[in-house]
Amino acid sequence: MLMNSLVELDRAHLVHPVASYRGHEKAGVRVLKSGRGATVTDAGGHELIDGFAGLWCVNAGYGQERIVEAATRQLRELPYATGYFGLGSEPAIRLASELADRAPGDLNHVYFTLGGSDAVDSTVRFIRYYHHALGKPEKDQFISVMQGYHGSSTVGAGLTALPSFHAGFGLPLDWQHKIPSHYSYRNPVGSDPQAIIDASVAALRAKVEEIGAERVAAFYVEPIQGSGGVLVPPDGWLRAMRDTCRELDVLFVADEVITAFGRTGPLFACADDDVVPDLMTTAKGLTSGYCPMGAVFLSDRVYDTIADGAGAAAVGHGYTYSAHPVSAAVGLACLELYEGGLLDNGRRAGARLMAGLHAMADHPLVGEVRGRGLLAAVELVTDKARKTPLPAAADPARRVFDRAWDNGLVVRAFPTGVLGYAPPLCCTDKDIDRILERTRRTLDQTL
Ligand code: PLP
Repeated sequence: MLMNSLVELDRAHLVHPVASYRGHEKAGVRVLKSGRGATVTDAGGHELIDGFAGLWCVNAGYGQERIVEAATRQLRELPYATGYFGLGSEPAIRLASELADRAPGDLNHVYFTLGGSDAVDSTVRFIRYYHHALGKPEKDQFISVMQGYHGSSTVGAGLTALPSFHAGFGLPLDWQHKIPSHYSYRNPVGSDPQAIIDASVAALRAKVEEIGAERVAAFYVEPIQGSGGVLVPPDGWLRAMRDTCRELDVLFVADEVITAFGRTGPLFACADDDVVPDLMTTAKGLTSGYCPMGAVFLSDRVYDTIADGAGAAAVGHGYTYSAHPVSAAVGLACLELYEGGLLDNGRRAGARLMAGLHAMADHPLVGEVRGRGLLAAVELVTDKARKTPLPAAADPARRVFDRAWDNGLVVRAFPTGVLGYAPPLCCTDKDIDRILERTRRTLDQTL
């Protein structure tokens, strides 16, 4: 009864993110009620392993008492403090300092946002300001990568390169450019890693030349493309792109909204490639989804140029909820959990997940298995030799998602016929084995 009324209220009033509104009205909402560890339970009592950590964000897992206590303490003591007027709060200052200590290279300055989209938006504003401060206002063109995702704000959605974020919105804007993805499974240059790296470098050079280096402000990458279908670049790709940017005097932005905080192993995925970006964005695992928060990291050079450029004037960028103390307290608790064992457990669980998914490569529907750490994907095909995608018209993603759900597994089913995995770092061996067993069962039923 209660459930029926929730479904009706949802249908009538709640606008869902990235959904077919009419399709959703027809299907009705599934209400999640509780979570513990890597398990969530819906309002009907159906228990599921959350193989996607909510939206690749609940890295610490559900029911972490230390996070709940930190948030509760902060809510009681001081639920809000602005960063305007030279004010601040202890958790925000401490979190900025702890993060800067651990961030790659000289990314020593942290600007807190509410999530990933406004973190990306903030980088665009900072970068524009930086080039103005250097006396190069004409450097106002931005390049990103096809199949990339950089959020859903008016500006960031144009850096995003997924069709449904553009169609009907008049995006991308005319200063937003793209180069092809490194996606190796169906790459026109083949799957040789060096050939893929060379092609990406050549594409970036060609794009910068086409626009004019004196006009290109920045290049955006995800260390692993997440929403494009978990596309893992060859080793050395990130470094080659960073080096090319340096050579061409283009700022290099690493969007680590998904990949940071243990998702691929270390706290920051850039560390895997020994790459120091000029700016870096994070969100999701920063607070493990317990409270909204994102963070932009600025290198000394970028920060100092902006600061000196502004002089005594205010840099006019900020939100009411920048550096929210409750989110910051949650962030500090998450960091303690990551370093107190979760990163290590995540690495172990990731190795087990990857080994188990690779063991499924013989399944008739599995075209490719890829991933790093606890970020993985299985690309489904109907014909392995031809790499034929599942027929799009039948919405296979939705069918696979529904079947997996019935089997007690939450998995991301991309419309391209890719299954995405990003389970919490607290996963036990048993949790991982359940994810694998339920995936195989779901694939067998999809044959
Ligand atoms: N950047 C990347 C790489 C993301 O994956 C996302 C979200 O998935 C965003 C930005 C946007 O973050 P948010 O949804 O918190 O606004």
